[in-house]
Amino acid sequence: MSQGEPFNLNDVQRQLRRHVESLRAAGVEWLPRGEPLPLGLSLGTSIAPAAESLAAETPAAESSLFEIAPTSSASELSLESRRQALAVLTDEVKKCMKCAGLASTRTQTVFGQGQVGVELCFVGEAPGADEDAQGLPFVGAAGQLLNKIIAACGMKREEIYICNIIKCRPPGNRTPLPDEASNCRGFLERQLELIQPKFICALGTCAATNLLNTTKSLGMLRGKFHDYKGIPAMVTYHPAYLLPHRSPEKKREVWEDMKMLLARMGRPVPAKA
Ligand code: SF4
Repeated sequence: MSQGEPFNLNDVQRQLRRHVESLRAAGVEWLPRGEPLPLGLSLGTSIAPAAESLAAETPAAESSLFEIAPTSSASELSLESRRQALAVLTDEVKKCMKCAGLASTRTQTVFGQGQVGVELCFVGEAPGADEDAQGLPFVGAAGQLLNKIIAACGMKREEIYICNIIKCRPPGNRTPLPDEASNCRGFLERQLELIQPKFICALGTCAATNLLNTTKSLGMLRGKFHDYKGIPAMVTYHPAYLLPHRSPEKKREVWEDMKMLLARMGRPVPAKA
């Protein structure tokens, strides 16, 4: 709104409502009440009537514009609301400083890639150097291998959501510490709640044990489906573990896991990768 345009209280109410609803959908449960902004003064009027009017017409459970009611369940939200909420959550993660060490060494956060409502979500461990540089998950050597696995399954990467249990790169690509995984858990849970994938595939021990809240080994977790909040979850090796200098012979077992996943998804199972 420029200085010369008329100040429309209805527009302000609509914008405030949209903003508050997006925050609520993203999991933000309260905002500080704060002091009235001097914004209205510079426009020759006050913003207070708009806020008061909006508060007055808001149901009792939401009686204050700045004290948001409990988080909406993502299952109640439209696809578009979930997209908006995911964008708000992405911004929240960008500002996150909960793990002081990671926040001080990261180039940027790596939230995830894909669309809400996809059929399948891969959950990995943490961003590496390439991911930290590009701001996208699984774009390095392990990511190239993951792309091949996806293609072998007859799918496209754009059809899938990909994220990690933590959103910041651990220095030297070390395994995330328990308190880092715990700090980021709320973001991951809300992310998956908004994406609502029909199936999840956890990549590697760290992702699997954190996602499923277990201490079992990967060997014990592979070969069967687990339950993550009602979503069938498969576990397999992390693509980085399959690279030539590590254990490429494990590709065969990953392919067995993928075939089991495809069958459960009701998709054609290619004869061989
Ligand atoms: S890893 Fe997660 S919780 Fe830790 S600083 Fe990054 S975004 Fe925040």
